[in-house]
Amino acid sequence: MGDEYLLSMSFSSPLKMDNYGFYVSSYKVNGTTEYMATTHFEATSARKAFPCFDEPLYRATFDIAVAKLDDEIALSNMPPVGEPSKYDPTIGNRRWVTFKRTPEMPTYLVAFVVSKLKKVNTTSDKINIYVREGAENGVTEARTVVPKLLRFLENFMGVAYPLPKLDLVAIPDFPAGAMENWGLITFKEDMLLVSELSAADRLAESLRVITHEFAHLWFGDYVTLQWWNTIWQQEGMAAFMESYALDGVGADAVDLALQVHG
Ligand SMILES: [Zn+2]
Repeated sequence: MGDEYLLSMSFSSPLKMDNYGFYVSSYKVNGTTEYMATTHFEATSARKAFPCFDEPLYRATFDIAVAKLDDEIALSNMPPVGEPSKYDPTIGNRRWVTFKRTPEMPTYLVAFVVSKLKKVNTTSDKINIYVREGAENGVTEARTVVPKLLRFLENFMGVAYPLPKLDLVAIPDFPAGAMENWGLITFKEDMLLVSELSAADRLAESLRVITHEFAHLWFGDYVTLQWWNTIWQQEGMAAFMESYALDGVGADAVDLALQVHG
């Protein structure tokens, strides 16, 4: 055993609207522009948000704290611990929200979001969906399908989903279809907002993407590739689950999805 050292450093980086790292996203509510700060790290953008060994082989626990205004919500991989701190006048009267320590995980799956998004409940207390104000009614099938999907995958894997909560967040401008951050899956908004009036293929696509990300909670998050050259393994399993797990939960919407996709 060698000696152990504690390394600490301060680091700052401006938030840009560049869709990678910790960045600013904007959207309109009743004609007014609202801003939110969110993350997208895969493959190598965690290092833009904090100094780290930013490779999938390295797993660490993370203690995360995020500052927010009173009308904002802060989300991260884990649920918050206790109440927000007292107002911190050095950061514009924001308060710090501290989150529970994460399990050991790679940097590219760390995530945090500060926004005025609104919470939509699902049929599971453990799973919540967040969307921009006014879009709450756009979340229909997902509210009932996602708890079934999580249960189906837990049974299939023989490993319970190990985190205490799971949030699904609809980001108005997002660089990918979705990102399987452990405990805090981020989606391009179109992938979560599917009303009953939407075309069948949109609903099918939404359920397919949600299922793909849920499969990654195990294939990718619980077990992670050593290096990006083997990413086909976790993408292959997630692609397989898009059909297999959707079929397994057998909701009405799933029949529709399977009809559309054959
Ligand atoms: Zn994937």
